[in-house]
Amino acid sequence: MLGAIEAGGTKFVCAVGDEKGNLLERIHIPTTIPSETMVKVLAFFKKHDLDAIGVGSFGPIDVNRESSTYGSITSTPKTAWRNFQFVQALKEAFPIPIGFHTDVNAAALAEATFGAAKGLDSCLYITIGTGIGAGAIVQGKLLHGWSHPEMGHILVKRHPQDEYQGGCPYHSDCLEGLAAGLAIEGRWNNKGINLAGRLEVWDLEGYYLAQALMQYILILSPKRIILGGGVMNQKQIFPSIYKYLQEFMSDYVSLPELTEYIVSPGLGNDAGIMGALLLAHHAILES
Ligand code: ZN
Repeated sequence: MLGAIEAGGTKFVCAVGDEKGNLLERIHIPTTIPSETMVKVLAFFKKHDLDAIGVGSFGPIDVNRESSTYGSITSTPKTAWRNFQFVQALKEAFPIPIGFHTDVNAAALAEATFGAAKGLDSCLYITIGTGIGAGAIVQGKLLHGWSHPEMGHILVKRHPQDEYQGGCPYHSDCLEGLAAGLAIEGRWNNKGINLAGRLEVWDLEGYYLAQALMQYILILSPKRIILGGGVMNQKQIFPSIYKYLQEFMSDYVSLPELTEYIVSPGLGNDAGIMGALLLAHHAILES
């Protein structure tokens, strides 16, 4: 029996299940402060006889096993969770293997195992919601180095007619600052969900996302790209991404058929929690 936590900024999804991705029970717990949220998380898992727990967490987090702060949340804007020792808190309650990675790397792992990139040894999973994050499988492994990738914050070329100042407090012209859900709302003074019929909104969204995808493709050469998150429920973004990506690449590399190469998640909203189950399984294999 494996435990799984998808730790998000507004809620924690906790589940138990197996390495085949079967979810036997799941609950949602609001993300408030660690002392409140974690009490409920631990109480849920105490009901089960677990062999390991996997965590896919919001970040930034420390995934470097050689670091003295491995297993903690680091510089998150959610101040109550800053420097929270996530792995240590679980280890104290459950002396079993604990897997720990970003929510998006967990989702990438699940999509590569069960979903839209099943059978492939490389893929990119990008979530475009309130913010933008991405996880990658490269040569069969989760991509991380001194830290985990932060692909949402790469710089993009601003559209000449875009006067929105950018929504990222750290960078004025990064992808998240210009293309995340918060940026759409800030630029058009309305939530994306209310702008479905405004073609210019989604054309501009495609303009920014295609620039980012071009850079990811040229650097990582993923075999499939999966675009999830609330913003990508606006399916009209896909044709715009395909159009701009072809324009920007300008036949320099011959891309795969784009409708099969850049796709929606195969697991819907379950990619994160199923990925956390897999992280638990991997933790057992590594121990
Ligand atoms: Zn940024």
